[in-house]
Formats: sequence, C-alpha cells, structure tokens
Amino acid sequence: MELINASTRYCAVLGHPVRHSASPAMQNAALKELNLPWCYLALEVHPQDLRAAIAGAKAMKLIGLNLTVPHKTAALEMVDVVHEKARRSGAVNTIVFETPSLGGDWVPLGQVAVEDVGPIRSHGYNTDAQGLARSLEEDFQWPDLRGASVLLLGAGGAARAAALQLAEEGIDSLFLVNRTGAKAEQLAAELRGGFPKIHIITRLPHDPVDLVINATSVGLKASDPPPLAEEWLESRRPRRVYDVIYRPAETRLLRAAKKAGCQTANGLGLLLYQGAAALELWSGRAAPVAVMRAALQKDIYG
Ligand code: NDP
Repeated sequence: MELINASTRYCAVLGHPVRHSASPAMQNAALKELNLPWCYLALEVHPQDLRAAIAGAKAMKLIGLNLTVPHKTAALEMVDVVHEKARRSGAVNTIVFETPSLGGDWVPLGQVAVEDVGPIRSHGYNTDAQGLARSLEEDFQWPDLRGASVLLLGAGGAARAAALQLAEEGIDSLFLVNRTGAKAEQLAAELRGGFPKIHIITRLPHDPVDLVINATSVGLKASDPPPLAEEWLESRRPRRVYDVIYRPAETRLLRAAKKAGCQTANGLGLLLYQGAAALELWSGRAAPVAVMRAALQKDIYG
C-alpha cells in the first residue's frame, strides 16, 4: 500500500459479495514480483450497478477488471467487444481495457503509457476454461484429454466453461448431470450441435470414467451433502475427481473420492491459472505462477 501514489494504476475484481475474494492477495503478489506500479482492488458492486461500474472503470482508465459471482453472465452484454471463447461460454470473467496503438491496432492499456491513451474500449474474455485446462494438466499430470470419458456435475457458468473446454480438447464422452435436468439437457443440446463426434449423455455413467468434475456449488458449506453418493464413487471408482471448490481444501466429495482410491484435486489451480491468464492479457508479461500460488495458499488456508 505504501507504493500507492499519483502514478499508480489499477485493476479490480467486481463481485457481490466480494470480501471473500483471494484475487487481491494473488494479483498484488504478482504485481510486486513483476515490479509493476499497479494495484489490484476488490470492489463490492451490486448487480444493478454493474454497467455503471464498468463504464466508470473505463472512464478512470483502469487497466482491467475481473468479474466474479454474480456478474459473469450479465457482463457479456456490457462490454464493447466479446472474445469468441467468452461468447461461447456465455460469461465474461476478465475485461481488458484497450486503446488504439500508433499503428491502429487495439492494445491493452496496461501496455501503454497513460499519456498515450486515446479512446478506450472494453474487451471481454473468459479465462476460466483455460484455467481449468492448466489445472487438470498440472494437478493430475495429464497433458492430453483426447479420448477421455468425463462426468460433469452442474450446468451453471463454471460447468459450461468446463464442458466447452473438455469438448475442445477432444474428449470421447461427456456425462452431464445437474439438479435442474432441463439445464443439463440445454447444455447437452448446444454441445451436440458444436461437437457432433462427442458422445453426450445426460445421466450418470454405468462404467468407470477417467474424470469426474464437480462444477456445482455443493460442498461450499460443511453441512452440504456430497454431490455424488459415496457408494457410487466406491462402486464405479473414477480415475480422477476434481472439485472446482477450493474452500474448504478438501470437500466431502474429495474425501470420499480419496477413500475410494481416486486421484483428487481441488479448484485452487483453476483460480490460480484463470488469474494468471488475466494478468498476462493485461500486462503482456508471463505471470509469476509460483508467487501467485503461494499468495493464494497463504490467503485461503493460512
Ligand atoms: P452457478 O450459480 O452458475 O451454478 C451453480 C450450479 O450448482 C448449478 O448447476 C446448480 O444447479 C448447482 N447447485 C447449486 N446448489 C445446488 C444444490 N443444493 N444441489 C444440487 N446442485 C446445486 O455457479 P458457478 O457455475 O459460477 O459456480 C459453481 C461453483 O464453482 C461455485 O462453488 C464456485 O465457487 C465455483 N467456482 C470456482 C472457480 C475457481 O476458480 N476454482 C471459478 C468459478 C466457479 P441448478 O442448475 O439446479 O441450480
């Protein structure tokens, strides 16, 4: 904080609520490591004020924004340009403010001196899918998902981003299960249209799968039941179980999966790598992931 002066530039995460966010700890550690005179803030923004908040950030020449619950879907309609991946995911989790360079190309504000900033546009991205891909690769030492069978629990924003990423990586079969079945059916229909070679089935698999992903919010509270019955885990024993939840570090699902002999990982890697990708978009620099991971672990787990 002592580094803040009249030249400091800003990024922020907008959420409602936002006080739980670990992104400021992670991003400010990275900014320090990269020696960038920027500061990353967490700002509480009510959904009805989101459009005004994005416009205000643009007017104040912020470098970029992250969006967390419940803003990701609404933001899609509030940015000037939407990246293809964000459009297909139906959600924006990162906004890059851009200005024309001398050559006329739009460049991120974070890569331009303030004096050179002209007109500004907001460019909406989604880095969650990329974050998940890097996390799966690293946490499971699993670089190639081609041909895999996956059970995906959920059909909200996180599940949607995961489903698209898995489909793009060429998995063989995707089992989609959600509390509200109609939402799983809708997501399945969209995926079948875009990826006709993938088997998309809206029920639990009968045979063991290579991967289970919990992309529901079930498990955030200690009192939550596991999103999959323990007997199912024991009898079908999937090879890997990934929970997008990272707080608590070990959900009931992961505990049961470990007991059943599955490889397990929580969503910390997703959080880390979606943030790393956002920082790379803003700064054009390689994100210092080791520093960011350490900052996250300290902030979340103490
Ligand atoms: P959404 O609100 O878009 O979706 C929530 C999903 O959870 C829906 O599929 C919903 O089912 C399901 N669900 C909620 N409550 C229950 C319940 N009681 N029983 C069964 N299913 C339930 O949220 P997101 O997709 O944005 O987020 C989902 C989870 O992913 C959250 O825990 C979030 O914290 C986490 N997340 C983690 C990230 C990370 O960086 N690690 C990044 C993004 C998200 P239904 O459709 O029936 O309502």
